[in-house]
Amino acid sequence: MVSTCHSERPSLIDIGVNLTNSRFDKDRAEVIAKAQAAGVAYQIVTGTNAQESQAAFELSQKYSGLFATAGCHPHDSQRMTDEDFAQIESLLTHDTVVAVGECGLDFNRNFSPPEIQQQVFRQHLKLACDIQKPLFLHERDATETMLTILSDYHNRLPAAVIHCFTANQKALESYLDFGLYIGITGWVCDERRGQELASIVHLIPDNRLMLETDAPYLIPRDLTPKPKSNRNLPQYLPHIAQQLARLRGQSFETLAALTQKNSMEFFNLKPKTS
Ligand SMILES: [Zn+2]
Repeated sequence: MVSTCHSERPSLIDIGVNLTNSRFDKDRAEVIAKAQAAGVAYQIVTGTNAQESQAAFELSQKYSGLFATAGCHPHDSQRMTDEDFAQIESLLTHDTVVAVGECGLDFNRNFSPPEIQQQVFRQHLKLACDIQKPLFLHERDATETMLTILSDYHNRLPAAVIHCFTANQKALESYLDFGLYIGITGWVCDERRGQELASIVHLIPDNRLMLETDAPYLIPRDLTPKPKSNRNLPQYLPHIAQQLARLRGQSFETLAALTQKNSMEFFNLKPKTS
């Protein structure tokens, strides 16, 4: 178990926080420290392309309690060069770079053509199979294609999480059947868009659930008092955990303990000695 230095509550792990985002340029160290003080023991910084993955890696070297992922988001896939992918591959040789991603498919906006998204996604899957690091997956409006492509690698596929899951029960059940983990954000706190998700989160087994803020995006809409800025922060993770625990009929402590265990095992997290 992770020790809870600054809080009597069990500590949490934010598996998806975009700390390289420019909205944190002015106060990044403070944001990280405040999250830790709020009981978020570990934060996994999302890498969304080669450059951002490099920056995420540097944060994971600089701050204790931070880890990184390395990959290329489907939106960025048409801009990814061979050099970029080589850089992602090389970043993944480091111990603090704990997952391949974010990678996947987004047919909602198709910022990159679907064929290129699929091709780049397959490159990431092959890499994850080769190095056996877990996958941090993004999927929007592409559940069936996602499952079809994942099936092609089924024999060698490492553990994989659908991050920021916001789809429906059918998609949830398909992913669970496939053996995937599910990342839940503050979307579940949104009384308008999050209702469907709120009604199905109890279907996620205890051993498949993880937590994330996706900060600075997706601020929980039911924070009280309502923050002046709409910038989401990793320190709001306990709030998301509280709401999720209520929806699942569990105590905060139970939910914190089980998500912590899942995340430690999934990402093979080892506390840094420095
Ligand atoms: Zn994403």
